[in-house]
Amino acid sequence: MRIGDLIYLDHQATTPVDPRVVEAMVPYFSDKFGNPHSSEHILGWTAAKAVDQAAEAVGELMGADADEIIFTSGATEANNLALLGVGRRAVGGQRRRILCGSIEHKSVLATARALRDFYGYEVELIPVDENGRVSLSALRERLSEEVLLVSIAAVNNEIGTIQEIAKIAPLVASVGAILHCDAAQAPCATDMRDLGAPIDMLSLSAHKMYGPKGVGALYVRRELQDRIEPIIYGGGQQKNLRSGTTPSALCVGMGAAATLLLGDNGRSERESVQAIRDHFVEKLGTIGVHIKMNGPVEGRHPGNANVCFEGFSAEDILAAVQPRVAASSGAACSSGIPEASHVLRAIGLSDEDAAASIRFSIGRHTTIAEADEAVELLREAIARLAEADLR
Ligand code: PMP
Repeated sequence: MRIGDLIYLDHQATTPVDPRVVEAMVPYFSDKFGNPHSSEHILGWTAAKAVDQAAEAVGELMGADADEIIFTSGATEANNLALLGVGRRAVGGQRRRILCGSIEHKSVLATARALRDFYGYEVELIPVDENGRVSLSALRERLSEEVLLVSIAAVNNEIGTIQEIAKIAPLVASVGAILHCDAAQAPCATDMRDLGAPIDMLSLSAHKMYGPKGVGALYVRRELQDRIEPIIYGGGQQKNLRSGTTPSALCVGMGAAATLLLGDNGRSERESVQAIRDHFVEKLGTIGVHIKMNGPVEGRHPGNANVCFEGFSAEDILAAVQPRVAASSGAACSSGIPEASHVLRAIGLSDEDAAASIRFSIGRHTTIAEADEAVELLREAIARLAEADLR
């Protein structure tokens, strides 16, 4: 994917909206603009039907029904609704502990911390191995009848690790705890029907799957829906779990995006993305500096390459390839002070190696020619940095 001279290798940050998705959305901005909650006229019915069909398509991604899909503003809100929703409803109960993977997205970690600070839950982080896989033995040790909720991302956003949810889910179910999976990165990475049941709640984001920004979804297993306290109160839309007018055009876009990833379409896309990713990584190996791949070899997001350029600064490399290559360093910036990625630290990288690591993410429209050109641009940039002794 090229935008002018820029080669876009940052699909895990966000994807472009697929033109077929835009096409599906357009009528819901114009003649089908009705409020899906207007129950007394045809414009409302039309919008409501479109939202229902979108929920059906999103549900199909994971084998859920339309009435188990709650549309939100994105995965951050879905994660908040899952954790706060369950936690606030269970205040005063016997289950006082919440377990999270140690490499979760901040929207899970920060929400768990809020449950600790405001409602007194005990929050424990489950360690991961050098590939970012949740330690099943550590999880087993921590599970008990006091655990309310376990939250583990299906696919990691930095190093692409696909978790063994099929092994995790029965462990969590064996103590009667609720399993939530942040699956924002999953639709482009794996067939979500293979993740394994029983997952109780699952978060999605449209803008990570070629849909629009501003919409996501939380799947909530039907039997669990009365155990969730809303985080947004109002008109009681979406079964009182998420008040507010459902954004029909955005939901239609998310549904169309989901449909494009179903079955064979998704499978062949993952295969071709992986072939380009592997080619890119192989070529990177020839640029003449020491590189290391962070994260797993098997069971990985097919578009993800997290590469450590030993002795260099990821920020310097990324700056040196501007405005020609878009990728990201794992560094999160809080209050202007960059801190090492908690994900890379958790899999055992030193601060130096974490600061030398770049996440490249290949997507639906990336070509081999673009991958080759990006490698050349990186080679030249790194040579310039080495010459200036900026390592
Ligand atoms: N979880 C994961 C794993 C993500 O990668 C992201 C996006 N970076 C989010 C949650 C948040 O998603 P959104 O942008 O839709 O709020």
